[in-house]
Amino acid sequence: MYCPICYQEHEIDLVKKKETVTFKNQNLECILVYYRCGNMADDNEFVTGKMLNANLLAAKEAYRKQCGLLSSDEIRSIREKRPKS
Ligand SMILES: [Zn+2]
Repeated sequence: MYCPICYQEHEIDLVKKKETVTFKNQNLECILVYYRCGNMADDNEFVTGKMLNANLLAAKEAYRKQCGLLSSDEIRSIREKRPKS
């Protein structure tokens, strides 16, 4: 794919990293995904809009877990158990 870091077409590593993010005044540990350009030593990470959304979702999910709320997956499974009207 086209790399916006070094402005070349090449294979880019998809990286998952456990990071602490601050969301709604809570420090949350969640797994964030991003691309890393192997051609550059520094400032070599970037995300697409899709990944940014996924990372935001991961942060929200971590926030729910930390606050003892249901995760969206759990809510979904509860909804699926209800009979359809
Ligand atoms: Zn690159």
